Amino acid sequence: MALEEEKKTVFDAEAATSLTKDLRGTFASGKTRSYEWRASQLKNLIKMVNDNEKDIIDALHSDLAKPELEAFISEISMLKSSCIYSLKQLKRWMTPEKVKTSMTTFPSSAEIVSEPLGVVLIISAWNYPFLLSLDPVVGAIAAGNALVLKPSEVAPASSSLLAKLLAKYMDCSAIKVVEGAVVETSALLEQKWDKIFYTGNGKVGRIVMAAAAKHLTPVVLELGGKSPVIVDSDVNLQVASRRIIAGKWGSNNGQACISPDYILTTKDYALQLIDALKHELENFYGKDPLESKDLSRIVNSNHFSRLAKLLDDDKVSKKIVHGGQKDEANLRIAPTIFLDVPEDSLIMNEEIFGPLLPIITVDKVEDCFELINSRTKPLAAYLFTNNKKLKEKFVRNISAGGLLINDTTLHLVVATLPFGGVGESGMGAYHGKFSFDAFSHKKAVMYRSFAGDASARYPPYTPGKLRLLRALMSGSIIGIICALFGWSKV
Ligand code: NAD
Repeated sequence: MALEEEKKTVFDAEAATSLTKDLRGTFASGKTRSYEWRASQLKNLIKMVNDNEKDIIDALHSDLAKPELEAFISEISMLKSSCIYSLKQLKRWMTPEKVKTSMTTFPSSAEIVSEPLGVVLIISAWNYPFLLSLDPVVGAIAAGNALVLKPSEVAPASSSLLAKLLAKYMDCSAIKVVEGAVVETSALLEQKWDKIFYTGNGKVGRIVMAAAAKHLTPVVLELGGKSPVIVDSDVNLQVASRRIIAGKWGSNNGQACISPDYILTTKDYALQLIDALKHELENFYGKDPLESKDLSRIVNSNHFSRLAKLLDDDKVSKKIVHGGQKDEANLRIAPTIFLDVPEDSLIMNEEIFGPLLPIITVDKVEDCFELINSRTKPLAAYLFTNNKKLKEKFVRNISAGGLLINDTTLHLVVATLPFGGVGESGMGAYHGKFSFDAFSHKKAVMYRSFAGDASARYPPYTPGKLRLLRALMSGSIIGIICALFGWSKV
């Protein structure tokens, strides 16, 4: 046992170098490039999840007290859908895409060939430890790469289950899991990768990007931010409040990157909205939400203290209009709503990532746009309204990773939409074909024959040739044809 512990702690730069060397060998063998290998690994992933559903649910319960329904929907089902979708599309994605060529290269043909990048590193976060670890893995496999997954140490049961299951079900010569925290991740980051895909906070995102820069390694950074929800006064309040609750407390108790972070609504409408939220919260989680089995707990005592600090900040503690109870021993905080917290309060100056929801009021709903745009670009922004003009204005004026109108978080499940941030909320995107593209190089390939060797492009350069080339550039058909076929007289 002691030896095992010791073995776990010695993943250093040397071990990381040896690991990447092995993976480079596998990649160089060409094994991961074939359709058959990619499809077999995706099928293995589905089998792995099917065979071990209960263990996955148990691990998520151990790490986060994640309710079984949430674990099933947002980790197990979403991952399986992602695998199934990729399997269905894989042949099409792998097929080179024929593209048009220009008159200047006539006669020629061209295509875009998607080739695997090589050996990639995936570093994931704790809040959806299965989905956020394995969904990028699906993309990396579909694109034909060898990979290392580094799950989050903050969700230890999930991390160790991932390591055990991937070793059992997947091709270990191309797919490895390294468990660990800062030391192990730092050792991995010293290596040269062909892509680093990181999910987590922006502070570590900067560390990842700096490490990647040393090797000119491209990165995808899936970060977070303060995702706002605008609520107009013409909405179906019951539906709107249920959907806000589902995206906030029904998504890992607010510990989700696209959970509503704060609400913006008009002064006149705020009290009605609060009443509706309170009513539905009680319907969903009962009179004592600290006892509800349908709410995840806070992941650990560090995050509990962080959230308690936001809650106990003098600037907001008197602004609580609902909830506010906490139970440190069981790492539980009740769904809590604040009204009109000051802009300079702690809660408005960092991503909340937990069950606290401030409401900010404005005079006119249009004032919300300026408020959102005065902050860094969020990962998601939501609007509840029936007003067509307001929807158009929202789409035109708000820059965020993704926008969703009249619901929250659901855009994440649409495989045809890219999922990723912009500005401070991240760079790059994945899901569906975007995952395949994130782990592929789009190689430009052009084919020519020996026919049509236009002499105009070769020295000696003469005024006649220049005339021909001018005709070519200006699109004069007769001139172009003459030039391409090397006829010197026009
Ligand atoms: P975390 O603590 O699990 O950290 C993420 C990863 O970074 C882990 O694997 C961890 O080991 C590694 N790490 C931590 N410190 C490091 C260091 N100094 N050097 C190298 N690696 C290090 O997760 P977190 O950051 O608490 O995650 C929450 C944040 O992630 C929130 O901001 C949230 O919005 C964001 N997030 C984004 C998405 C998305 O898809 N865009 C999804 C989930 C979470």
